[in-house]
Amino acid sequence: MPVRVRYAPSPTGSPHVGNLRTAIYNWLFVKKMGGQFIARLEDTDRTPGRYMPEGIWDIEESLRYLGTIPDEWWVSGGSSGPYIQSERLPLYKEYADKLIASGHAYRCYCSRERLEAMRQEQQAKGIPTGYDRCCRSDDGREEMRTKRREELGHEPPCVVRLAMPLEGQTVVHDLVKGDIVYDNRTQDDQVLLKTDGFPTYFLACAVDDHLMGVTHVIRGDDWLSSAAKFVAVINAFGWDPPALVHPPLIMGSDRKKLSKRHGSTQFTEFVEQGYLPEALLNFLVLLGWSAGDENRELFTLPELIERFSLEGISEHPAIFDYDKLKWMNGMYIRQSPPGRIIGLCIQQLQKAGLISNPPSEIELELARKLIPLEIERMKVLSEIVPMAEPFFHELRFPEGYDEKAVTKWLHVEYIHALLRNEIDIFTKIENWEPTSLETAIRTLAEDMQLKFAGVIHPTRVAVTGRTVGPGLFEALWALGRETTLQRLHSVLEAL
Ligand code: GLU
Repeated sequence: MPVRVRYAPSPTGSPHVGNLRTAIYNWLFVKKMGGQFIARLEDTDRTPGRYMPEGIWDIEESLRYLGTIPDEWWVSGGSSGPYIQSERLPLYKEYADKLIASGHAYRCYCSRERLEAMRQEQQAKGIPTGYDRCCRSDDGREEMRTKRREELGHEPPCVVRLAMPLEGQTVVHDLVKGDIVYDNRTQDDQVLLKTDGFPTYFLACAVDDHLMGVTHVIRGDDWLSSAAKFVAVINAFGWDPPALVHPPLIMGSDRKKLSKRHGSTQFTEFVEQGYLPEALLNFLVLLGWSAGDENRELFTLPELIERFSLEGISEHPAIFDYDKLKWMNGMYIRQSPPGRIIGLCIQQLQKAGLISNPPSEIELELARKLIPLEIERMKVLSEIVPMAEPFFHELRFPEGYDEKAVTKWLHVEYIHALLRNEIDIFTKIENWEPTSLETAIRTLAEDMQLKFAGVIHPTRVAVTGRTVGPGLFEALWALGRETTLQRLHSVLEAL
C-alpha cells in the first residue's frame, strides 16, 4: 500500500512551530518512503477568536517557505478533494447517516440548557461530566423530541452522537508510545454532527482520513488524549485505523508547554526575525527526533530524508532551545552564497525603513559593501538593522550618538588634534580602501604617540556614533570618504 500522510492544520493564526514540525515529519516520511503528502484544512471549528480565515495564507506560506509542499492540497487540488473541510459538509452528513443506520450513532434532541444543567450538577457532585444518554434509546429520544417540539412550536434541531460501546476497550496503537488502552465505559457519547450541519473534529477527521486513503497519521502530542474518540469513530465505521504517531510535546526551558512566555512560537515571527528556511527545518526536525547520531546537529536535506524514520521519534518531551536555533541559523547564514544574505538583509532594512523600496543605486552599493562585513557574526538576519542604522541614517552629532560611548571616547584631551589630523589625512588619501586606511591610521597613531586603541575607538564613535560594529577600516570604506569627512567635521565643530 502506498504511503499517504496528511497535515491537517486549522486556520487559527500563523502556524505554531509544533505544527511546522508536524508538516516537516509528514513530508520527510513521504520523501523517504515514496507516496503522497496531503494537506487538508480543518476549518469546521468556527468559534469566534479561534477561527481566522486569513490564517490559510500563513499556512500556505509556511509550507512554501520550508519547501515542504504537499502533493495534494487545496492549492493544487488532487484526486481526493476538496481539501477544505467546510467544502465537504454533505459528505459528513452522509457518513453520519450511515452510522445512524448501522446503529452506531443516534440523533440527540437535548437542549443546550439541559446539557449545561447536567454538567453543572455533575461538577457539583464531583463526578466525571458527560452526556446521560437520554436520547440513545428510541423511547427516550422520541420523548425528548416531542417535548422540544412542543416547547419550540416546530421540529427541534438535533445533533448526532456516537453510540459509544458500553463495554470493552478501545485501543490506540501509537507507533512510538505503544498501545494505550481506554475503557469504553469511561468514554462519552461524543457529538459527531452539530445542529448547524458542521461536523465535529472526530467525525470529519475519521471520514477524511478514510476517504483520502491516509495510511499514517503523524500529528502533535496534544491529540493523543482524544485519540480514543477518534479511533472509536473509525471502529464504528468498521474501518482499519491508520498507523498513529504522536511526536512529543515541545516545551520551553522551564519544562512547561512552549508558549509566548518563552519567546516566539509562530511561523511569521521567525521569518520576521530572519531565520532561514533550512535552519528552521533542520532545527525543528531534531526537536523530538534523533538521527541516532547524537553529536551531529547540522544535516543537509538529502541526509535528513535518508535518515528519517518514525522509529527515531522520541517519546520524551523536546525542549525548544532558542540559543541553539540562533546558532544553527548563523551556521546556515555562513553557508549561504553572500548574495542571498544581502538580498534577505535588504528586505529587513526595507521593512525597518532604512532602505527605500526599490533600493536606490547608492543604497545598493552601500548594502553590498556593508552586509558581507556582518555575515561572520550574524545569527539572525534582523540583527542587520541596528548594525546598519548608523550607515543608512544621517548622523549629526550629538543626535543618534551613544552617550556612554561619547563620554568615554570623545572627551579625551587629544580629541581635537586627532580629528583635525584625520580630516587632513582622509582628505588626501589616494585609495579609499580598508588596507590604505589602516596604514594611514597606524601611522597617525605613531606620529601622535598614541596607543592604537586610543585612535581606533574615538574614530569609530565619531564616525558611527557607537563602539560596536564591523571592523573600523571596512566601516570607513563602506561609508565612503565624503560621509566620513562630514561626520568628523560635525563632531569637531560641536565639541
Ligand atoms: N486540525 C488539527 C490541528 O489543527 C489537527 C488534528 C489532526 O492532525 O488529526 O492541529
